[in-house]
Amino acid sequence: CFCKLKGRIDDCSCNVDTVDHFNNMKIFPRLQSLLSNDYFRFYKVHLKRDCPFWTDDSRCAMRYCNVQACQEEDIPPGLKQYNHNSMNSIFGNQDMSLRFYDGNEDCEDPEADHDDELGFINTTISAAAYEEFEKWQAHDALDNFCELGDDKDAQYVDLLLNPERYTGYKGKSAHRIWNSIYKENCFRPENHYDLFIQSSQLDRMCLEKRVFYRVISGMHTSINIHLCSKYLLSDKESLIAPNGKWGPNLEEFKRRFSPMTTDNEGPHWLRNLYFLYLLELRALAKAAPYLANEEFYTGSEENDSDVRDAVKDLLSVIKSFPSHFDESSMFTGGAQARELKDEFRQHFRNISVIMDCVGCDKCKLWGKLQVQGIGTALKILFSGKFDSLSPPGLQPGQTAKSQFQLQRGEIVTLFNAFGRLSNSINELEKFRNLIRE
Ligand code: FAD
Repeated sequence: CFCKLKGRIDDCSCNVDTVDHFNNMKIFPRLQSLLSNDYFRFYKVHLKRDCPFWTDDSRCAMRYCNVQACQEEDIPPGLKQYNHNSMNSIFGNQDMSLRFYDGNEDCEDPEADHDDELGFINTTISAAAYEEFEKWQAHDALDNFCELGDDKDAQYVDLLLNPERYTGYKGKSAHRIWNSIYKENCFRPENHYDLFIQSSQLDRMCLEKRVFYRVISGMHTSINIHLCSKYLLSDKESLIAPNGKWGPNLEEFKRRFSPMTTDNEGPHWLRNLYFLYLLELRALAKAAPYLANEEFYTGSEENDSDVRDAVKDLLSVIKSFPSHFDESSMFTGGAQARELKDEFRQHFRNISVIMDCVGCDKCKLWGKLQVQGIGTALKILFSGKFDSLSPPGLQPGQTAKSQFQLQRGEIVTLFNAFGRLSNSINELEKFRNLIRE
């Protein structure tokens, strides 16, 4: 089968077989269970932002493109207090003049209110402290590989209610997104004018530029595997399948990835999925000492404690993997390397903005999530903030959490994006079995 890949994963020191076995036996089942928890399933996202590059002329009219929004009462109370946590993570417990509404009836300030602008932050926070917080956010944003955007109009989406699957989004609008990603925002070999880069030409680029291309191509592969594995097989509604019947479409899978129909590129695109998987795996391993201090706060102590245990278990399995992606050989060598890293970051930020132009809300939801998750992984690998093996020693009065460098949205997308790749690798195994049958 063309999808039974063999040998070493390009630009990595690890074999495809090793990843298949490790993912399908160890990672996939753990992630499946972890990502169904409230902390990970509720993702706050802005789906209505205007496309800054062109007029969005072709919105997907299929009902499968819709995103089902959350009801206010479905959202765990602790998530609505998120600002409490993010402020606390910066100031720790040092400044006792800061008090946060913690949802507790016995809260010291009976006037604690829910200000729309500031979320659930108690109004006793001084303007100076808030300014400090904003300055910190602006400074931190310089390290970001994604435009996180302004959260004000974002809404919570329950990812379990809106699975990534076939939506019918295709044609001019979908191609304009992919074209502008590959053409305008991917690096290209010198004197290369074709829209898409042939895998055989990747060696004409330096490692960093190849990595960039493989990351994007790996994400594209994962999106397309999902639409093949959860294809709309019949839209006839029945009692058993009120939303139509969804399942794997082997012909669609072959059309997209077989060497015969893709000018030999399909298997290379599949390999890029494995490449991206190893890159995100490494980011999780690198951030593990930091993630181990995270509270995964939703307001339900029992559930949060289970999530902390499950995350620690997953991270220990991830750390046991023998050959991670090695980012240490990237961006080495002075001013030129710094310039390249800035360019790399800028290109990736552009791609995160292009996601606002996707003309199908469901595709936009998962596209944004995956791009933000990859952006978080890149931040962990290349911002330098996660380079020490353990979080630096605590200053007096500082909590472990106050050193943490990621916001909740970044953590949610990091794990969920990795979950998408893990699922894709697992789906590949199922397609292999179908082909064998
Ligand atoms: P496309 O996938 O549109 O690809 C265009 C061209 O890119 C191909 O002809 C090929 O030359 C090249 N290419 C293809 N794959 C790769 C790769 N892995 N690496 C490098 N080059 C490649 N559709 C859904 O049904 N459900 C979704 O959830 C969904 N999410 C999407 C999210 C985003 C952000 C975008 C942009 C599109 C999404 N789509 C989704 C649409 C889907 O990805 C395809 O664009 C669509 O099905 C049309 O497919 P196509 O065969 O024309 O090729």
